[in-house]
Amino acid sequence: MSGGIHPTDQRGPTAMRSVEQHLADVLSRIRPLPPFEQHLLDAHGHRLAEDVIAPRDVPLFDNSAMDGYAVRRIDVLGVDDERPALLTVTQELPAGVAANVEIGPGACARIMTGAPVPPGADAVVPVEWTDGGAGAEGTVRIYRTPEPGGHIRRTGEDVRVGQPLLSAGTLLGARQIGLLAAVGRDLVAVRPSPRVVIISTGSELVEPGAPLGPGQIPDANGYTLAAAAREAGAVVYRVGVVADDAKLLLDTIEDQLIRADLVVTTGGVSVGAYDVVKEALTGLGTVEFGRVAMQPGMPQGFGVVGVEEIPIFTLPGNPVSAYVGFELFVRPAIRKLFGREEDLQHTVVEAVCTAAFDSPPGRRQYARGAVQPAAADGRIEVRPVGGSGSHLMGGLAQANCLIVVPEAQIRVERGDLVSVVLLDGESRGGSALAGDR
Ligand code: AMP
Ligand code: MG
Repeated sequence: MSGGIHPTDQRGPTAMRSVEQHLADVLSRIRPLPPFEQHLLDAHGHRLAEDVIAPRDVPLFDNSAMDGYAVRRIDVLGVDDERPALLTVTQELPAGVAANVEIGPGACARIMTGAPVPPGADAVVPVEWTDGGAGAEGTVRIYRTPEPGGHIRRTGEDVRVGQPLLSAGTLLGARQIGLLAAVGRDLVAVRPSPRVVIISTGSELVEPGAPLGPGQIPDANGYTLAAAAREAGAVVYRVGVVADDAKLLLDTIEDQLIRADLVVTTGGVSVGAYDVVKEALTGLGTVEFGRVAMQPGMPQGFGVVGVEEIPIFTLPGNPVSAYVGFELFVRPAIRKLFGREEDLQHTVVEAVCTAAFDSPPGRRQYARGAVQPAAADGRIEVRPVGGSGSHLMGGLAQANCLIVVPEAQIRVERGDLVSVVLLDGESRGGSALAGDR
């Protein structure tokens, strides 16, 4: 069944949804962003959304690979240091000019690298094999015979017109951008990076660095989520803190929709008196609030808002809950927006747990862990870090993975094999440029 979480789900643990159900519901509402044409440098770092066929040959014309003299090879056969050929220099051909005048018998053209080879010439003699025109005015001595076609870069020897160049899905880095430019493409269809708007709610929140009044705390989640969304490859707009005021929050969300492919809020989704996210969004669009059988991150809301049906995640306020919710649900949504069809979730590996800890019954725990690189025998160890409290940012910063403890399990013993969600990118062979693209 699609359509999100139902209000009736809020009664008790039996009414909680599983992580899989929630994720499936979320993903059923996310459509990949349509590709669009971008200028080359704006396409940089994105995945190509078209197969590119070479629109022309490269090189487009025969041209010189050296600074030297374009000659008729027949005029310089059998020469050496003692018996050089003496040719008349009838043309001067820097790069960027047309070369239309034929080279006649006994003549040659002074030619620079990249200049077109004139008709009649069938080889280029590098300047090092000549006297460089140091003798009589308008002549040059040639001391060595080039190969047939020597030092000429032939039309199409690099790229042939009609040849497949880059296929859809290719990540455009410097080398691919260079090739597209070389064949004269200025625009290419790419998948855009999703634009993600991050909104922190809470009247207790102030900007990091600002003086703190009584009861105030810095907005940690806004920064955590903005950074996480960036790591996922998104273009991130972090809206500052919004106080616990439903009208203000609604206005803010509506203002942001114009530049959002996805909205993420934090805070204000529990059952407290000031849980304004719930208040503001209930009845607006399809946003539904409910509970997912996980710890941390039980309260999860999701839906779409506005005429464009922009997806919105309402993550909990506790910092670890917000982050874990992001990595489990928002990250796959961003990957889907990018057009990815597989590997929407973080990689999960098996590891041996090096310490015992408890886990709540009925909920899947995502405990913070630090996983070591695999040993020579392939064995991976994971060490629990920090406690299970969803406010514990210190432990979170030490972690690089989440240790998954199944719903029915209430304790992990030292030496147990556990599943581990890798948070810091995976060795899938991607480049740093790739993010989640
Ligand atoms: P809430 O879900 O709004 O009731 O918030 C739950 C807890 O998380 C409270 O202790 C809040 O102060 C805290 N919290 C909410 N939002 C943030 C935030 N952006 N940064 C740091 N802590 C937050
Ligand atoms: Mg709050």
